[in-house]
Amino acid sequence: QLEQEACAGCGVKLQTESTDIPGYIPASTLDREPVICQRCFRIKNYNEAASVAINQDDFLKLLGGIAATKSLVVHIVDLFDFEGSLISGLQRFVGNNPVLLVVNKIDLLPKGINLNRLLNWVQKQTKAQGLLTVGIVLCSAKRNMGFERVIEAISEHRGNRDVYVVGATNVGKSTLINRLIRDYSDLERELTTSRYPGTTLDAIHIPLDDGNEIIDTPGIVYSHRMTEIVPRGVLQSLLPDKPIKQLVYQLNSQQTLFIGALARFDFIEGDRQSFSLYISNALPVHRTKLERAEELYAEHKGVMLAPPTKEQLEEMPAWTRHRLTIKRGSETDVFISGLGWIHVNGDSGALIDVYVPKGIRVLLRDALI
Ligand code: GDP
Repeated sequence: QLEQEACAGCGVKLQTESTDIPGYIPASTLDREPVICQRCFRIKNYNEAASVAINQDDFLKLLGGIAATKSLVVHIVDLFDFEGSLISGLQRFVGNNPVLLVVNKIDLLPKGINLNRLLNWVQKQTKAQGLLTVGIVLCSAKRNMGFERVIEAISEHRGNRDVYVVGATNVGKSTLINRLIRDYSDLERELTTSRYPGTTLDAIHIPLDDGNEIIDTPGIVYSHRMTEIVPRGVLQSLLPDKPIKQLVYQLNSQQTLFIGALARFDFIEGDRQSFSLYISNALPVHRTKLERAEELYAEHKGVMLAPPTKEQLEEMPAWTRHRLTIKRGSETDVFISGLGWIHVNGDSGALIDVYVPKGIRVLLRDALI
């Protein structure tokens, strides 16, 4: 009977199985009137949006639905996982609607970072990905940095359009929307609903004081991000909470770094040089000789080399190798989606092998810092 029932708040099909996917309702509250999903319930009663996630196909359908509207699309990305959380092809899917890029979690960068330089970097990378934006704003939803700029930019570009907020999971979309609800909304009003033609997925409309509304959409799951493939217990150590302190290692060639048992970094060839790790400070790093690396991993994975634990490792894909050549004279990051990056000062060039769970995106990019 539940199969047929839709949430009276957002219209999504109800289910009692998983809190992470749309339409979740605790079985015990099914007789409540009106029948609304947990996400709508929380917005209505606690002024709080919770994250739900959907797969890529459903997400693309949802984006296609936006193309048929007259909207401002606010795309939230995580600065800490920029290439991993940017929705590629967003432009194609949202049609002629303007896109405002909000880069969240800038509080994670080490103190004293030059924000103008950072903005230039984001502009360059965004352009390289073929995404045209009407504006780019840097902020921290959690620490309330740059938030007025987000509001200003939205008002500046929305005209009389609806505002759709889109993003990958864990980029801070709920945190940002909750701030909007707290500061700008009048929850006396009811949640309204909207249906996308051709999908069962529905967005949540949140009325704001000025008569406009913000439309929250589910987060897209990208399996190329480390944060998506680790077991739940590991996620908290992956997501940094405080500004990152970079870890600097002076390595000779034929040396190896293990980041827990999540990734392995081999410096194969090149002059002695420094490598700076920008990863969550909750992750332990171990250095060893390349010739000892296999043995060390076999003996200590899941225990000294952790997280993940032995049991958690069994739930994860096996490692694959990425061979990378850093050109002489280039400031480069070895970016590992969802984990962070390793800055290489390419004065003399380097040959590097990176091992990560199969499917995780690894790439070289111009240094962020
Ligand atoms: P959503 O899945 O996009 O809705 O993301 P959430 O709002 O649930 O946030 C995901 C994780 O990122 C949570 O652990 C948040 O505490 C954290 N987070 C959100 N915004 C920020 C931010 O501005 N800075 C930092 N450091 N963490 C943030």
